[in-house]
Amino acid sequence: MKIILIKYGELTTKTGNRKLFINILCDNIKRALSNYNVKIVKSHVRMFIETDDNIDEIVAILKNIFGIHSIVIATRVNTNIEEIESSALEIAKSTDFKTFKLDTSRADKKFPIPSMEFSRRIGSLILRNIPNIKVDVHHPDYTLKIEIREDYTYIYHKEIAAAGGYPVSVAGRGLLMLSGGIDSPVAGYLAMKRGIKIECIYFESPPHTSQMAKNKVKTLTQILTKYEQAITLHVINFTDIQEAIYKNIDPTYMITIMRRMMYRISEKVMEKSSCLCLINGESVGQVASQTLTSMQVINKVTNVPVIRPVACLDKLEIIELSKKIGTYETSILPYEDCCTIFLPKHPAINPSLEKAIKYEKSFDYQSLIDKAVMNEEIIKITNKTDEFDI
Ligand code: ATP
Ligand code: MG
Repeated sequence: MKIILIKYGELTTKTGNRKLFINILCDNIKRALSNYNVKIVKSHVRMFIETDDNIDEIVAILKNIFGIHSIVIATRVNTNIEEIESSALEIAKSTDFKTFKLDTSRADKKFPIPSMEFSRRIGSLILRNIPNIKVDVHHPDYTLKIEIREDYTYIYHKEIAAAGGYPVSVAGRGLLMLSGGIDSPVAGYLAMKRGIKIECIYFESPPHTSQMAKNKVKTLTQILTKYEQAITLHVINFTDIQEAIYKNIDPTYMITIMRRMMYRISEKVMEKSSCLCLINGESVGQVASQTLTSMQVINKVTNVPVIRPVACLDKLEIIELSKKIGTYETSILPYEDCCTIFLPKHPAINPSLEKAIKYEKSFDYQSLIDKAVMNEEIIKITNKTDEFDI
C-alpha cells in the first residue's frame, strides 16, 4: 500500500524538546488535513500518514507545513524478503533510468541480511530483469531506497523537499504588524517558519482608508493561513490618532510619531493576546522611518522584543519571497495605506528622541491609545472563510 512518510526538519537537532516538537507538528498536520480521511502514526524519526484519499492533494498541503523537511510517497510492504524483492522490482520497472543504485537502511537489526548485502541482492535482481541499465553508485539517475523496519518496510525513490523550519507554535505566539504592503506578509511567513504562531494587527483610518484596503489585508492574512490554519486579525481604528498627529505635529516628525503610536498600541494588543513579541516588515534603510536612527527613536516606546525578519534583505529578495508564498499579487494592488495618506514630503531621516517626546506632548495620546485598543475589532480568518472583495 502507498503511504506518506514525513521526514522531520531541524527539530531533530533539539533532542530535549523533540517529543514536544513532534507532538506539535502532528497536531498541525491533523489540523491542516482535517478535510481528509487520514491515519497518522508518529515515531521518533518519522511520521507515517495512511490514506485512501488523493495523495497529491495531501502532499501539496504538507509542503507548506513548517517542521517537515521532506515528504516521501513510499510503498509499504511486510518486512519479508520475498515481498520486498517483488515490490522493489515492480517499482524500479515503473520508471525509466539508465543508471541506478540501491540504498538500504536497516532499523530492524534482526533482519537477517546486512544493508550492503541486501542492496547488492536487490540491485542484481533489478539488473537481471531490466535491460540496458547499469549500477552507478556515485551519480545514479535513480536511487531506490529501502527502509527496513521491524513492522514494515518502506520502498521509495523520490523525496519531495518541504518547507523546513520549526513547527508553528513551538516558539510561542507573536503579533505581526500587517500592512497591505509587500514586506510585512513576508516577515510573517519567515516568523512562522521559525515556529512562531502569529496573530496580526492592522491599523486603518476610515474614511481616509477604504474597505478595500482592509479587505486586502484580510486577503493577505488568508493567504498566510496556508502555513497556520487560523489567524486572528486585530483591526485598530487609527483615525483619531492620525488626525491628531496631522493637526498637532511638525510635518517632518509625523511619521516618527505615528510609528511610535503604532508600537504603543501593538504592545498593548500583544500583551492582551498573550503574544511574546512584535514582528514587522521593517527593512534597514528602506524608507525614512527605517534608518537606524529612526528605528532607535521609534523603538524607544517599548521594551518587548521586536523581530524584523526582513531587516537585512534587499527589496528584490523580499519580492522574490512574496512571489513564492503567493502574497505578491495582492500586495501590489493599489489601495492606500494609513501610512501613505498623510505622508509628508520630507520626513526626518535622523529624528531626535527629545524632539519626538516634545512634539508628542502637544496632544493627549494616551487616552486615544486606550480608546483604540478598547475598540479593536477581532476577526478570525481561516482558509475556509469566504474570499474578501478586493
Ligand atoms: P510594507 O511593505 O510591509 O507595507 P513598507 O515598506 O511599506 O512595509 P512602512 O510603511 O514604513 O514600510 O511600514 C513598516 C512596517 O510597519 C510594515 O512592514 C508593517 O510591519 C508595519 N506597518 C506599516 N503600516 C501598517 C499598518 N497600517 N498596519 C499594521 N502595520 C503596519
Ligand atoms: Mg507599508
